[in-house]
Amino acid sequence: MASPGSPKAPRAIQEFSLIAELHRRHGQLAPSIIRGIGDDTAIVRPPSGSWSLVTTDLLTEGVHFDCRRTSFVEIGYRAAVANLSDIAAMGGTPRYLLIALAVPGRGTGSQIHQLYRGLMAACRPYGVRLIGGDTSTSKGGWFLSIALIGTVAPERALLRKGARVDDLLYVTGTLGDSSLGLRLLNEGASRDHRPHKARARSRTHERFLIRRHVHPTARVREGQWLSGGRLATAAIDLSDGLSGDLRHLCEESRVGVEVDLAAIPLSRVCRAYAQSQRLDPVEVALAGGEDYELLFTVAPRNQARLEREAKRRGFRITKIGTIRPARLGMRARFPGRAFRALTVTSYEHFR
Ligand code: ADP
Ligand code: MG
Repeated sequence: MASPGSPKAPRAIQEFSLIAELHRRHGQLAPSIIRGIGDDTAIVRPPSGSWSLVTTDLLTEGVHFDCRRTSFVEIGYRAAVANLSDIAAMGGTPRYLLIALAVPGRGTGSQIHQLYRGLMAACRPYGVRLIGGDTSTSKGGWFLSIALIGTVAPERALLRKGARVDDLLYVTGTLGDSSLGLRLLNEGASRDHRPHKARARSRTHERFLIRRHVHPTARVREGQWLSGGRLATAAIDLSDGLSGDLRHLCEESRVGVEVDLAAIPLSRVCRAYAQSQRLDPVEVALAGGEDYELLFTVAPRNQARLEREAKRRGFRITKIGTIRPARLGMRARFPGRAFRALTVTSYEHFR
């Protein structure tokens, strides 16, 4: 950090001791890390011949997270998953993490350590190592910027472009849970006057949905499988909502699509809770963000192998549509009904 005239002395958080503590707690080295935290830059030696995948994300208090409703551990966890999911969507292996942080005057050392606890918990299953970052004070709220570096075998990355007419459209997991979870968090504690048993069930449902929001899973193993087995022709992760992310895939691949709305995978809880709120769960899935599932396309000749291998590996995948020529655009229908244009209802900044 070190900006001219920054009043360091009276602050509760000391930059250098904070970095030393983060280094001690989270700066474990690995054979491929020649220099980690502590120098002017980190030095890494990724597997020879591999291609690097580089991604960054900026999270802003009040836009991406709310410190009053989510714990710092959860904020860190979700921030890491958002980046892991980008590497997953390319079919790569996440490896090195850098964290840049701006902390408002009210921020405490304990909050920073909680944030890192969440970040590193999400990274641990994949052996991702923290190799650096930057630290600043903020005159606004918290800012958290993450950079994640991964690797992929040459020519094997899954791109958004690559889908061809007649390819089948698949998605992992279930959609919509996270967006209902966020809705619940925003509403705060619900006032529920129904009989005890119904209330207890709805509490369990609420906990499930909130957990899906604050504790999502990046589909790293699935992405590696799709790329390693040359199964997917294109892929994208669902961070903004199915309709919006599908549009990105179609635009990049210069294709249209037909979506089978009845096939969209929804959890039992998503259906039940949406119904109780008079929401259409399919609309929730189309608009809802932060599912961090993978949306991908597969050539018809690979369908049998895809489904066989998914079953063997315990990956949940669902076919939800078919790629069509670009001139037909994005269309959707329920079985036996007419096609309608699929409008994008996902979240967009600046809209
Ligand atoms: P510089 O002035 O070159 O930016 P810093 O004092 O900011 O150096 O950083 C010293 C070392 O600590 C570097 O290796 C940097 O990557 C690391 N570092 C700084 N802030 C963080 C942070 N918030 N998280 C992890 N590593 C950090
Ligand atoms: Mg710095």
